[in-house]
Amino acid sequence: MSRYLRTPLTYLKGVGENRAKDMAAHMQLQTFGDLLEYFPYRYEDKTTVVRIADIQPDSGAVLLRGTLTHINPAGGVRATRITARLHDSSGSIEVIWFNGISWLKKFLKEGTTYNVYGRPNLFNKKLSISHPEVELAGQEDQGGAGKLEPVYSVPDKLKSKGFSSKLMGKMTKALLDQLHPTDTPECIPTRVLEAFRLTERYSALNRIHHPASQQEADQAIRRLKFEELFVDQVRMLRTRTDRQQKFSGIPFTRIDGLFVRFYEEGLPFELTDAQKKVLREIRKDVVSGHQMNRLLQGDVGSGKTLVALMTMLMAVDNDYQACLMAPTEILARQHMETFTALLAPFDIKVALLTGTVKGKERKEVLAGIADGSIHLLLGTHALIEDTVVFGNLGLVVIDEQHRFGVEQRARMWTKNHQPPHILVMTATPIPRTLSMTYYGDLDVSVIDELPPGRKPIKTVHYAESMRLRMFGFLREQILEGRQVYIVYPLIDESEKLDLNNLMEGYRGLERDFPRPQFTIGMVHGRMPADDKEFEMKRFVEGKTNILVSTTVIEVGVNVPNATVMVIENAERFGLAQLHQLRGRVGRGAHQSFCILMTGEKLSKDGRTRIKTMTSTNDGFVIAEVDMQLRGPGEIEGTRQSGQPLFKLADLRHDVNVLQAARDAAIEVLDTDPLLEQPGQAGLRRHLDDLQSGEKWWGKVS
Ligand code: ADP
Ligand code: MG
Repeated sequence: MSRYLRTPLTYLKGVGENRAKDMAAHMQLQTFGDLLEYFPYRYEDKTTVVRIADIQPDSGAVLLRGTLTHINPAGGVRATRITARLHDSSGSIEVIWFNGISWLKKFLKEGTTYNVYGRPNLFNKKLSISHPEVELAGQEDQGGAGKLEPVYSVPDKLKSKGFSSKLMGKMTKALLDQLHPTDTPECIPTRVLEAFRLTERYSALNRIHHPASQQEADQAIRRLKFEELFVDQVRMLRTRTDRQQKFSGIPFTRIDGLFVRFYEEGLPFELTDAQKKVLREIRKDVVSGHQMNRLLQGDVGSGKTLVALMTMLMAVDNDYQACLMAPTEILARQHMETFTALLAPFDIKVALLTGTVKGKERKEVLAGIADGSIHLLLGTHALIEDTVVFGNLGLVVIDEQHRFGVEQRARMWTKNHQPPHILVMTATPIPRTLSMTYYGDLDVSVIDELPPGRKPIKTVHYAESMRLRMFGFLREQILEGRQVYIVYPLIDESEKLDLNNLMEGYRGLERDFPRPQFTIGMVHGRMPADDKEFEMKRFVEGKTNILVSTTVIEVGVNVPNATVMVIENAERFGLAQLHQLRGRVGRGAHQSFCILMTGEKLSKDGRTRIKTMTSTNDGFVIAEVDMQLRGPGEIEGTRQSGQPLFKLADLRHDVNVLQAARDAAIEVLDTDPLLEQPGQAGLRRHLDDLQSGEKWWGKVS
């Protein structure tokens, strides 16, 4: 980066030690470069003078030019306001000020022409403007008239210290006055610039701060947004290429063994087209000689487990072991049951390793993994431990991957001398924009189809007053032989209040669903693992009618006979969580229901969430709404590289720019993977700058 942009802000005209300190502390701005990238978030249009007769009541702020009459400071010497009339050739309007009275008293003269900028309001059927900006006409160079004035956000803490958007504008102006094109070299290759008609970097940086027109501002913003996304995509795609070059993949060339036999003889049902498509994508990866890094997205109940199982068989066919890691003990055990049942007819050894597998049993499992006699290992975080040493691990599947940290996932890489293939699965659909940015370095497969015969879950919203009706419905379902989940919020497991709620709910249910006719079980995060296990098992086996629980049952659990999911205080859950919870039902042949219980009063967002849930079962639609409500930063899933989100790009709206930037990045890297051609020099230097971490912040020399 150029020396100029690395200059500390103290050297900027108008910024002394104190201001520099404040800007560093409250705005994270330290260098000229930081300030250059502190972009305005909107502009005030002072480009055109509006005729007073043409003012529309709802026009927003306008620039007027005219002379003043009837300047009238009310309240004598201690005037608290000044009113006046502004005239132009088309008409007149009242203007009022409440501040800066003594200065205005001297400044405003009848008959002089002024530029007045403010927002007209309709008051008593008459238009007037309260506390507008005012300057002498003919001195536009010093003021704002004739321009699109940038508006910068200024933290409240700094407003009281004399900082304002106008001051920020002055600073950026001073900075730009001395900025030379060589300080901001172009980082987008020329042919991409041309293909997308993007403004060149130096002018974009100038114009975003001080544009001559809204159109110029828009073009500058578009260019800089594109840059953010393009550079980010190039960086991520390069990570992928680097990885592929550094680690050759284990080729699973044999394809005619267990996999095929299972396909022909072992499948309990026909695979969906989506499952077949995904298996083909995986197959292509594992024979390629490159290491597979694939994210499998599929809505709850879309049948990811089976895809995982069949992928694991590909490993076994090639004399490699495979493992599957799940986030909870309950889920790991359930996978174990599924696998054992499906693989019983085949000569293959499956083992389970979790925190509760202890003593002799654990020793045997560890030995079997080490000598290779165990083919498939299923388990929890326990798989990560150093004592777990594989003889020959070829594939790692991570279920509900968002429940694991980046490091935990990375640790699995080291479980073989050559990194195993990695398949991460998630049932939390994320919008396409997010998967391109969060998981841009992974290949993504999507199961976008549910197994046939599923009846869509019916979702209703009940207020507290309908509780008895809800109980009546549960009774009907239970008498028909079905089972019911009732979930209470226990967002922070240490919250006593929530736990009390749960207990109270449980006791209330015992009254309405008395023994011995009904049985109720309960699980929550604070119970010992063994008790949890016991209760879950009873529910899975159909011995309990109602399972009262916290969100510990959120992921993965599969009890096809359960047809009702009641969510208490549903307004307290996020959309992703509601969707996951609802996904616990609707897994069998019977019609399933989700009942969202809430208080009578709901916040606006709360209402949107409930309405979304009652109107769709589509996880991707829900994920979109979730992102609109919460913003992309809050959506589940850790960004792989821990990069901050973007300054300009908003993933909620910029899907087209993102797609274009990704396409361009792919195209550039396809023709020049190492960015060695002269045309790519700017881009390469820019990436090096980013990599060295000294871009805009960090080491100031
Ligand atoms: P998830 O994708 O949420 O992990 P699961 O793998 O648990 O979903 O599958 C949900 C249910 O669907 C399971 O009971 C499973 O046996 C069943 N299933 C999976 N694939 C199919 C299919 N192709 N046809 C019918 N049922 C299927
Ligand atoms: Mg699953």
